[in-house]
Amino acid sequence: MTIYLDNAATTKPCQEAVDAAVRAMTLYYGNPSSLHRAGLEAQLETDKARKIIAKSLGTDSGNIIFTSGATESNNLAIRGTAAAYGKRKRKIVASAIEHASVDETLLAMESIGFEVVRVAAREDGRYYAADFLQACDENTCLLTMMSVNNETGYIMPVKETFSAVKRRFPDIRTHSDCVQAYMKIPVNAAALNADLISLSGHKIHGAKGIGALYIKKGVRVLPIVSGGKQEKGIRSGTEAVPLICAFGAAVEKFMPTIAERYKRAEELKASLLEKLSGIDGVTVNSPGDGSPYIINISAAGKRSEIMLHYLESRDIYVSSGSACSKGQQSGVLGIFGITGKAADSALRISITAETTEDELEAFAQSLRDGIANVRG
Ligand code: PLP
Repeated sequence: MTIYLDNAATTKPCQEAVDAAVRAMTLYYGNPSSLHRAGLEAQLETDKARKIIAKSLGTDSGNIIFTSGATESNNLAIRGTAAAYGKRKRKIVASAIEHASVDETLLAMESIGFEVVRVAAREDGRYYAADFLQACDENTCLLTMMSVNNETGYIMPVKETFSAVKRRFPDIRTHSDCVQAYMKIPVNAAALNADLISLSGHKIHGAKGIGALYIKKGVRVLPIVSGGKQEKGIRSGTEAVPLICAFGAAVEKFMPTIAERYKRAEELKASLLEKLSGIDGVTVNSPGDGSPYIINISAAGKRSEIMLHYLESRDIYVSSGSACSKGQQSGVLGIFGITGKAADSALRISITAETTEDELEAFAQSLRDGIANVRG
């Protein structure tokens, strides 16, 4: 039996999402831009999903733009905001632990002359609103800060930071990559004081290849893809109706149970940590108050990749704890003070509320066996 503990990488689509996609492909195959009835029906279906996603963020449908995924949403938020400010504001402030889709985009912005300030954690390994506020000035066009770090589960102080920055610099746009928070902790656009929020369908049991960008009413974002002017001209390209419907169905399913699933995930995390505490050489890299859905550990100096494949041989799937893309270390663990062998042996276990005690027990047992049997 497969034990899938890599839900921060991607999730299994829920049946409701699959059914919604099949239904859309079967019945609503028109182009939402077409003027005939088939087009209108497809448009009504995308609008239904748009409404569900908008409601989940506490906003209106008019503020949701569909994209191909959070990578594109993050690119659009950063490049589109910078372009909207033109030459007037040439500085971007970010956290130092952003996902590659933000970080690589920031590097691209630097290469065209933008100043990018990456705010680091303090010595205690934590991020503080005051440090972001200090990094911002009148020349800053954008502040970007993820909600939950995808490698460690660290929960960023988004609300405090955005509120403090907005109070002093109302013109600075605030963007949060909420991919690992969405449907796990409440994400409310107004409460976060966010102008822009990136979401991904495949991290919430929807489908791959679909994402969304929330853009607060009145906030200007210039398109990075030009064409038929779909999505209010901000993201051209025929809407991926089946994937949008799958995204909407997943949100509709999971939105009402965020709090109870979070509680269950906390119980599961506590139980896993308890099991791991009995294994020699295992250390926990995730903060105690991090997202219960992501648990990053180091496995007794055994190289992540070797251990990952050992677990795979037992049909257990986890991630290498410091990989953002195949085999490449992202450096995020280093920022949290986890370096050398501890970083090289990091594993990321990412669960859902449906993960079972038996699965965690089987994982812990296999990890124990792996530590005893594999060569570093
Ligand atoms: N942001 C974070 C925090 C992520 O974890 C991911 C996925 O790995 C992304 C962005 C990219 O999302 P997508 O796969 O939808 O492009």
